[in-house]
Amino acid sequence: MKKLTLPLLLSSALFALACAETTPPAGTAITHVTVIDAVGGVRANHTVVFDGDEIVAVAPSDAKLPAAAETIDGSGKYLIPGLWDMHVHLTYDDRFTDSMPDMFLAHGITSVRDTGGLIPNLEPVIAKMRAPGARAPRVFFSGPLLDGEFVVYDGKSRPEIGTQNSTTAMAEANVAELKAAGVDFIKIYEMVSPEVFDALAKAGRDAGLPIAAHVPLSMLASEAGPAVDSMEHLRNVALDCAANAEELHQERLAILNGHTEGPGGDLRSRLHALQGSPAIAQYDEERCGRTIASLTSTIQVPTLRLNTLAMHPPFERTDWDTALAQAPASAREEWETLITGWRNNNALRDTTSAEFSLSLVGRMHAAGVPIGAGTDTPIGLSIPGYSLHTELERLVEAGLTPLEAIEAATIRPAEFFSLQDEMGTIEVGRRADLVLLDENPLDNIANTRTIAAVIARGKMVIE
Ligand SMILES: [Zn+2]
Repeated sequence: MKKLTLPLLLSSALFALACAETTPPAGTAITHVTVIDAVGGVRANHTVVFDGDEIVAVAPSDAKLPAAAETIDGSGKYLIPGLWDMHVHLTYDDRFTDSMPDMFLAHGITSVRDTGGLIPNLEPVIAKMRAPGARAPRVFFSGPLLDGEFVVYDGKSRPEIGTQNSTTAMAEANVAELKAAGVDFIKIYEMVSPEVFDALAKAGRDAGLPIAAHVPLSMLASEAGPAVDSMEHLRNVALDCAANAEELHQERLAILNGHTEGPGGDLRSRLHALQGSPAIAQYDEERCGRTIASLTSTIQVPTLRLNTLAMHPPFERTDWDTALAQAPASAREEWETLITGWRNNNALRDTTSAEFSLSLVGRMHAAGVPIGAGTDTPIGLSIPGYSLHTELERLVEAGLTPLEAIEAATIRPAEFFSLQDEMGTIEVGRRADLVLLDENPLDNIANTRTIAAVIARGKMVIE
């Protein structure tokens, strides 16, 4: 290396200084804030600088940092990564579709995973949400529920969000079509045969698409679970936790194979009614332990909020009326009617299944099964955005720590899409999705509701 003379060294240093002085300050600094994420833990009195959609500095507030164009005083506040809702349906109820992006952002949800809708319905919604400068969370979508010969969500007794896969050839063609339509993952549904399930899973993997699934009624959780990346609602897991699981499986196969006509939704309800409660009554610790042990590489999105409605009716929360006021008026009236019906129906107060769901998630978590946070909004009285915070409370009730609940709504969903190097933590180089809270979420997970500001894709969207 050429030796530099002192005058040259001095002048280059002066030149560098001059450059630094003429570069205008850029980005936004959140100063003196307590930074919390599931990897870095808790960092008190830090400054986080983001510039556009990127975090460019994270350092103790007394460190020398380049001046930012804007400063937010984060003293006494807490900064967490933008939250995800891993299970939403943007097009399930079109009264909600337009208002959902704003409702998510208002509650600190900066990314959503749409787990089922028809492509023609989803396409304009996704395009609008992804348009440059759009006020919307990041969105990842699967397209329709890939169902079996008999489709549950067939557009007759339920909204049409499912599609038929009667043969392995149809399965391969459908996945190819979805890949071409630009889906981010696929979702396999409950009525597929084991052969179709295998064909869908293989086609998804070959296409490089992550796979979400319900455990098909024709299979056991321990067979289907390890083949996919996420499982939803704990659906049909109880059937593989029963002492007589094999017997129940044979009984289901006989009914499924003997079914020649009629809606998939009716067939599914019949099987759930026939085996759901008996399976819980026949719960076998050892059998369930083996089932759970097979699922340590599959993210469980238990949607506990939904599964525990009987224990925790959302309309009994003190902040329910305020939250519901944000919902579209037409849906609000329908929900009020639903709630009145609910209050008058004691059968809906049976908490057996809710308690089972909570204890199953606790056991799964203790065994190292990764847990993800999702709500199924707007299904089952789930107010978009608001309900994710209820899900976090249920996850803590099931046995996660508040930090693990935050992990379920940040790192886990990022991992599902192999995006953990881009999102889910507050580090240099990560995307600028951030939520500023007034109260410490580690003291009480309900404090994720105390939102002071939301930054989504580098823009302050709520303050
Ligand atoms: Zn769903």
